[in-house]
Amino acid sequence: MKKILKWTGIIIGSILLLGILLLAGLYWYYGGFGSEYPSGGKLSSLEAQYNVSFYDINLEIDPQSKSIAGYTEIKITTCSDLDTIEFDLIDNYSISKIMVNSIHTKYLHENHKLFIFPESKLPLNQIVDVSIHYSGEPPEAKRPPWQGGFNWSKDENGNPWVGVSCQGEGAKIWFPCKDHPSNEPDSAAINITVADTLFVAANGLLKNVTIPKNNYKTYHWFTGYPINNYLINFGIGKYEPVEKIYTAENGTHTPAVFYVLPQMRDGAEALLDQALDMLYVYRKYFGEYPWIKEKFGLLNTDYYGMEHQTLIAYGNKYKNFKLGEHQFDKLLLHEMGHEWWGNKVTAGNWSDFWIHEGICTYGEALYALDKYGEQAYHDYISYFRKRIFNFSPIAFNGDATTDDAYNNDLYTKGACFIHTLRYVLGDSIFFKTLKQFATDSVYTFQNTVVTQDLINLVNRNSGNDYTKLFQLYLYTNDYPIVQIDSITANQFNISIPNIDFELPMDVSYADTTQRLLLGKNPISLQTPFRPQVDRQNWYLKEPDED
Ligand SMILES: [Zn+2]
Repeated sequence: MKKILKWTGIIIGSILLLGILLLAGLYWYYGGFGSEYPSGGKLSSLEAQYNVSFYDINLEIDPQSKSIAGYTEIKITTCSDLDTIEFDLIDNYSISKIMVNSIHTKYLHENHKLFIFPESKLPLNQIVDVSIHYSGEPPEAKRPPWQGGFNWSKDENGNPWVGVSCQGEGAKIWFPCKDHPSNEPDSAAINITVADTLFVAANGLLKNVTIPKNNYKTYHWFTGYPINNYLINFGIGKYEPVEKIYTAENGTHTPAVFYVLPQMRDGAEALLDQALDMLYVYRKYFGEYPWIKEKFGLLNTDYYGMEHQTLIAYGNKYKNFKLGEHQFDKLLLHEMGHEWWGNKVTAGNWSDFWIHEGICTYGEALYALDKYGEQAYHDYISYFRKRIFNFSPIAFNGDATTDDAYNNDLYTKGACFIHTLRYVLGDSIFFKTLKQFATDSVYTFQNTVVTQDLINLVNRNSGNDYTKLFQLYLYTNDYPIVQIDSITANQFNISIPNIDFELPMDVSYADTTQRLLLGKNPISLQTPFRPQVDRQNWYLKEPDED
């Protein structure tokens, strides 16, 4: 008896341990960012009183001591009378001086916040230049890009290879900023000084390279497009730019550049060819590549990837993803999609993070549709569907930080929801709506979006009210429960008892498929065979027949 108890104990203990390990693993892969300094959330009342129009970042980066030093100039426009300017900057840094319109100014730096006290009140609608001089050791990336920071790596030959990622943390981990997605500056300058044996790549265009002192170079990069703070980025290494040409729809040429290390040089051209092919597909659905006046850029990084604007972090080592008999670089495809979804169309609050990840992920299936046809598209959607946890909703009311909002289902469930919209709206309205959301100036560049913008657009274009459909799939984790009841030998009733609206679904029985509106009230079908509902899986629903 004792033996049995002992073994039962061991077995139960092992199962529990396995369960805990599995959950920890799932969290590691799919859970929140778990950032020490989450980004976004409720915009503070002081930060709501101005808008940033320009960041001018000037930093010397020293891989040896893993430190950075320099200054950032921030141009702001006041939206009310302002006696205190608040920025975000983590406490790792010490500040040597702050100037407001070239005048030395008092400040307080604590709890990752920077409060600056101009000598006199700044009036409404004033453009103000704030210059912050600082130095220190940035946090090292623990699990980039999910838990970001600096990657102080070395390439195969022992040369410095430095990158930074901070979607979860915001740019406050390396320069002072207004760390909130609602405010994109019109432009940004990234001036990075390093040992002259190294190359620096950053967003936008390289304007100039200067020599500030012996054995050093400063790379002056500038982007003239609105950009979210976490997308401002650079990479340092023995980079060799490999360049191809993207031809825009209007015939103009844009460089497509891969900043690659010698160790990854073989394969760089092929990757760029693949990238161009993907860009030409995406623009059919989402409109022109958003940054044609600057470049399409890929940066060889020592972490997996991130959608840095015109400088996509690429650390996938040319690994292909297999979709049936087809294969392509899924990371490249995904991150590139963010140039539209996330970078050009930006959620003004992380509570609508799903717009970035969900529509971007859906875009991958559109690539499969365009290249390989309808079946490949459905296979890709099915791949997403099998990777949904459905633990919690994917959109939130009110404010959310990156930590609050981030989870695996933003990608997969978000993509499946857009797939549902394709069925519900029909191809002509659906594709028109998707493109309009990616191209209309009210949703793009410096204008940010919320989920309600997409709901309104869908309702307007379709002439129907789909608010409840959005509510169901985005703001709850309920699925429609399809109930099929056998009434007599020749009659079945179909209903969806758990929703208070009607959804069109394909119902197949005998030899026909009909699109029927299903809801609480049962629909009666005369057939001796059990009907099948939504055989093609346009919906996430219960029971899941697949
Ligand atoms: Zn993504």
